[in-house]
Amino acid sequence: MKKKSFLFGRIVKNIRLAKIRLLKTPIFIESGKITENSVSFLIERDGLKEKLYLKSNHVRFQNSPDVPLLIVLLQAMKRKRNIFIRETISNGLIVNLIRYMDIFCTWHSSYRPIKIHVNNPPGQFEKNSFEKSRRVGAFFSGGVDSFYTFFKHKDEITDLIFVHGFDVPLSSVELRQQIREMGSKVAAEWGKRFVEIETNARDILKGWGHWGFHAHGLALGTVARSLSGSFQKIFIASSTSIDQLRPWGSHPELDNLLGDRTIEIIHDGVQKHRNEKIEYSVSYPFFLENLRVCYINPGEAYNCCECEKCLRTMTTLYALGCLGKAIRFPKPLNARMISRLELSDAGQISFVNYAIANLQLLREHGMENSEVYNAWHDLLARYGH
Ligand SMILES: [Zn+2]
Repeated sequence: MKKKSFLFGRIVKNIRLAKIRLLKTPIFIESGKITENSVSFLIERDGLKEKLYLKSNHVRFQNSPDVPLLIVLLQAMKRKRNIFIRETISNGLIVNLIRYMDIFCTWHSSYRPIKIHVNNPPGQFEKNSFEKSRRVGAFFSGGVDSFYTFFKHKDEITDLIFVHGFDVPLSSVELRQQIREMGSKVAAEWGKRFVEIETNARDILKGWGHWGFHAHGLALGTVARSLSGSFQKIFIASSTSIDQLRPWGSHPELDNLLGDRTIEIIHDGVQKHRNEKIEYSVSYPFFLENLRVCYINPGEAYNCCECEKCLRTMTTLYALGCLGKAIRFPKPLNARMISRLELSDAGQISFVNYAIANLQLLREHGMENSEVYNAWHDLLARYGH
């Protein structure tokens, strides 16, 4: 009996030790494999290996471990795992990421700051021998925010960067082709380069957080870091204005911390409301002819004209008297469709702000008796506003 309980005690102790070891197992990352038009990295956690890849026919990538570092940061903070890198990484980025985790984990209590172990020599380590490019990029999807950032900085911007695999799923080949045509036209008009990048970064982030609330800033940062050496600076267009800021995956407090001396990452456009960005941009015919806002994309439609984002944007264009010129919205603005909108919890805060701004704009243009005005008014009332 005594022997049995002794054995049992040892088994329990071993299970506990195994658990502790398991809990402390770090996530391993290292330099990637680079080819002419791609780079890939192995991410190792609990003996499982996952591959992050980026592909492009337009740019050369970096294979430094700081590219997958941003992608694994979310799962590391979620699972309280440290990250182990056998190579060197700039201290500037490590210092920035410590600040990033402090802010992020204050906003989101289910995440914890973790340690990033690197093989840096003692003292301040910075990469001294890196080529500083003169190119300046801007992430570009053809939406309101990215068009505005492009127009504001078009003298400085040399490249428009579209990432396939973020808002547009990797399986949407036809929609990618439409965006390629739009982006190439915009780039050719202003003498810029259109850069198309494909990546599975979103798949790796999946399961460790909400794409909008937690993940998409890190995903954009990963792509930006993969281009350090080819670019000196990359703009991320803000998705909200300064008075409506809330914890969000891409944020002026966070995005800039994903850069360092090798590449600057700028969160841009936070000073303007969405409707102000549209009012500024409608003077460019290219904006009206190519604007793409839909994120539902049924049947790979460019703009469905039925989702909240399509209807909200069409309403602004309608109030400004230029919806007829926005040729990528193929259906008429339908007031009945507005009154029937069903909104998810995640989208409700921004929906209310956008709807109120559109009602104000319609009033400013003497349209308070229109069907469209009444439809938004009734919808707001249905959601208690
Ligand atoms: Zn839509």
